[in-house]
Amino acid sequence: DRKGGLSDTIAAIATPPGRGGIGVVRVSGPLCCHVAEHITGRVPPPRYAAFCRFRNREGETIDRGLALYFPGPRSFTGEDVLELQGHGGPVVMDWLLSCVLQLGARLARPGEFSERAFLNNKIDLAQAEAIADLIESASEQAARSALRSLHGEFSAQIQELRDQLIELRCLVEADIDFSDEDIDFIERGAVAERLQGLQSTLRRIHRSAQQGALLREGIRVVLVGRPNVGKSSLHNRLAGFEAAIVTDVPGTTRDLLREHITIDGLPIRLSDTAGLHDSMDIIEQEGMRRTREEVTSADHVLLIADDQVGLTELEQAILSELPDNVTYTLILNKIDLSGASAERREDAQEGVMLRLSVLTGAGMDLLLQRLKECAGFDGEGEGYFSARRRHLEALQRAGAAVAAAGEILREEGPEEMLAEELRQAQNALAEITGEYRSDDLLGEIFSTFCIGK
Ligand code: GDP
Ligand code: ZN
Repeated sequence: DRKGGLSDTIAAIATPPGRGGIGVVRVSGPLCCHVAEHITGRVPPPRYAAFCRFRNREGETIDRGLALYFPGPRSFTGEDVLELQGHGGPVVMDWLLSCVLQLGARLARPGEFSERAFLNNKIDLAQAEAIADLIESASEQAARSALRSLHGEFSAQIQELRDQLIELRCLVEADIDFSDEDIDFIERGAVAERLQGLQSTLRRIHRSAQQGALLREGIRVVLVGRPNVGKSSLHNRLAGFEAAIVTDVPGTTRDLLREHITIDGLPIRLSDTAGLHDSMDIIEQEGMRRTREEVTSADHVLLIADDQVGLTELEQAILSELPDNVTYTLILNKIDLSGASAERREDAQEGVMLRLSVLTGAGMDLLLQRLKECAGFDGEGEGYFSARRRHLEALQRAGAAVAAAGEILREEGPEEMLAEELRQAQNALAEITGEYRSDDLLGEIFSTFCIGK
């Protein structure tokens, strides 16, 4: 039971490892006052920064810094919270943390502060997830949509939908309870109308959430093709768009950029097949096997061929083996050599085909456009919520239940079944905010957080 441990006191270094101007040890739980008294000599006044000497058990000064005390429930976790800000060196931070642990606190698990905030009803589950998303945002758009979720905009819309569902359920259930007497609490036509309203709101929220999830997770794109068609060149060129944007960020290496690129805010994970195509001939058995493996984990495949050669049996073979859920684009590269002009063609049989030149850049805009389109990304960047796959799944289940309710209504099925579908929809939505949840789910979500958050 995850709530079981709530009475103990947790502590962690909340700042990233390494050296920094300041470092923060965060403590949450009933021992905060005890910890403050021993380390700083007194409990600092609530919500004021107090400059103090930090002392270890032997009374030796280990650092000087600020102590901040937030008595519960007016704190991030809802419990007493103490923050000790010292000098941000790994040794000093370790000293400080071990003093806190010696005084009876235990080391926090990743995300445990946020988890406590959730368990104490300071934030709901979607908001807790948004905290992690905000920290991990790789683009401005992603950060903005995480902030929106964190401020509760996503949760508020879910809550409103739930309220509407509950109201409708009450009316339908009242109808069931009083079915002997000839009272109609709600007419079937009115139920149908409300169901339709719910369905369209669900669709709208799903759409925003889907864009948010894309901003967070991106799509995985795999490049395949014969040797020498230009896969590495394309890879570098795509990474180059990103490099041009972020070159002045110190410490970012080109290798890092190569795998995670963003196109107008859409994150794309280019799978690293460099090792595959540079050392291996795709035509060989082993090459084909590994290509298959790569392709099955992709969202989108860029199948590249030389425009002077055109499509051969090899490309046809790869296409015929693509899993149904993987979309693809055929790229005929090196039009500077073939003399063709950049173009996009669509054909029911072969799908979308682009002619371009990685070398000259002609037609590259068509490719970027195509990638955004395949991801279902509209790039507007406003009004999205950061969302996760689990939110999308829950929204989909809610939508399916509402649709099923509509079906029962049309076929004049029993009202009990109708009420049951509405209950299902309501529960699905409750999973998003965490009112309806399992301990496993909580563990899964919070374990991906960083320590001290
Ligand atoms: P890979 O084996 O598929 O990764 O192919 P590379 O990216 O290593 O490219 C093979 C060769 O084709 C290199 O010499 C590239 O410079 C060249 N190349 C790639 N794209 C183009 C293009 O659009 N036009 C021309 N003329 N050459 C290209
Ligand atoms: Zn290559």
